[in-house]
Amino acid sequence: MFPAPRRLLAAVLTLLLARTAPAQVTAIRAGRVVDPETGTSVPSQVILVSDGKITALGPDVTIPRGATVIDLSRLTVLPGLFDAHTHLCMSVQLQRDAGSYYLTTLRDPLSYRAVEGVANARAMLEAGFTTVRDVGNEGDYACTSVRWAIDRGLIVGPTMINAGRIIAPYGGQFQLQPDRRDLAEPEYYFADTRDEMRKAIRENAHYGAGVIKIVVDDQRYIYSTDDIRFMVEEARVAGLKLAAHVWTRAGAHNAAAAGVASLEHLNGISDEDLAVAKANGTVAVFTPFPLSVLKRFRTAPGQAEAEYRAEIDRLAAGYRIGVPIAFGSDAIHDLAGYTRGTQAIMWIDSYVDAGLPPRAILRAMTSTAAHLLGVDGERGAIRPGLAADLIAVSGDPLSDIEVLKRVVFVMKNGQVIRSP
Ligand SMILES: [Zn+2]
Repeated sequence: MFPAPRRLLAAVLTLLLARTAPAQVTAIRAGRVVDPETGTSVPSQVILVSDGKITALGPDVTIPRGATVIDLSRLTVLPGLFDAHTHLCMSVQLQRDAGSYYLTTLRDPLSYRAVEGVANARAMLEAGFTTVRDVGNEGDYACTSVRWAIDRGLIVGPTMINAGRIIAPYGGQFQLQPDRRDLAEPEYYFADTRDEMRKAIRENAHYGAGVIKIVVDDQRYIYSTDDIRFMVEEARVAGLKLAAHVWTRAGAHNAAAAGVASLEHLNGISDEDLAVAKANGTVAVFTPFPLSVLKRFRTAPGQAEAEYRAEIDRLAAGYRIGVPIAFGSDAIHDLAGYTRGTQAIMWIDSYVDAGLPPRAILRAMTSTAAHLLGVDGERGAIRPGLAADLIAVSGDPLSDIEVLKRVVFVMKNGQVIRSP
């Protein structure tokens, strides 16, 4: 034991050394690095990562002595992917629930849904999605708990921005009957008057929502443009953006006119309203189920094909008109042989069928989504100063977007999640 002054000196020295010791550096040798924003790639790059962030990028970057070197020189490196429309705390069992997520919410206890969220979050990250926006159907804030656990390092998952309880006109997305009017709560927060809307947004903000999600039009009565404008403003005051589920032409019209941050699904939206959305800087999150998935629960003859054609047509129109598009999957099913992550990446098929070139799909999955989520100063590109959220694939995603289905390396905040 040192005498007291020496102990003090030792403590000061330890503190000084801790402050000046260089942070552990990871150096990644990349065969190519893709910039989705410009749709270009460059060969033979070195990426330095320290304290979870990218510190240098270039062909001639010196690798510091003692750095951990990751050799991806035979692979293409790109920013981690985004899924801007997930429901991680819900898994519809097609047989048990007859395809109805109403039944899913009645049968699965909240504790189980949180566990599902943990597993789905990990699966998304392992498939290459380093950031997700979860748009509700999380019961009583189950996904908020999942997000906290990820943020605290308790579990492994993507960076999450989640919605809390979905706000909707009376009945939400469920067909209630008068004896059991309680059965849609807490899944939805019914808000019909302005006071109820304000209260719903404040409750969501209070319990940790990172985005406000409303359902505009799944009932006979829909939110008006004035209703939605009111909620956009209330959300803004709470520092939150507003995402609007629109499934009809009328609902899409009201939400586009109100200047929401994002339109979700956009079924039936008119070309005119797509132009309004573009003018307002609204991001479109089209979510057309891949035909192979849709066929599993739209079983009437020709129904899946007709629905698919209609949705692909709107996605194609959105791209043609030039509204910013963020990738969103809306994957909610338990599919044998797939994790939630390998399922969500299948949505690429719909984007390909709508005629979007690989470059546009990549932007939807990175920079445009990062902008929508409000994290474009932190993530969504490979640039010094940004979080080290990286994935690697074999092949060139700018010519063959399918290679994204086979991600072999994932890094989130500088931490290796999977490697070849
Ligand atoms: Zn959804």
